[in-house]
Amino acid sequence: MSDITVPGKVRAWYGLSGEILVENELWHLVRLGPISLPHPPLINLFLRAGLPKENRLRLSFEHEYGHLQTLPLALLHLALLRRRRASLGSWLAALIAHQAVWELAAEGWVVAKLGREYRETYHGRGERPAVFWLAMLGLAALGTLRALRG
Ligand SMILES: [Zn+2]
Repeated sequence: MSDITVPGKVRAWYGLSGEILVENELWHLVRLGPISLPHPPLINLFLRAGLPKENRLRLSFEHEYGHLQTLPLALLHLALLRRRRASLGSWLAALIAHQAVWELAAEGWVVAKLGREYRETYHGRGERPAVFWLAMLGLAALGTLRALRG
């Protein structure tokens, strides 16, 4: 059974429902109850460049859905970085690390869901996925270490 009931409407494994609209390559909207989060899809633009339009939109949708699915993990990571008397640098590092971890989790969810289809989509299409994984891993690790230092 698919966990996508109506195109755009989704429900996370922990029960939170939402709506994801991938309107085009330049604008995405995620709606959680009364909260709307329209945003430019910077990571999706970078990762999906050069792919056929159908693949770009599908993988972008799955990535946004991955953010919803992995929200508890991202919040747990952010909670672990919380310090009572943190410096501005520590707060900035925590926010950067949080976003990097969440991007890794969301794209990791896409990879886990699509498996071979994901690998075949990117086969022979350049180094962008490797750049993404290395950059996000670096930001996540360095930001986490800096944030924990206080
Ligand atoms: Zn993302």
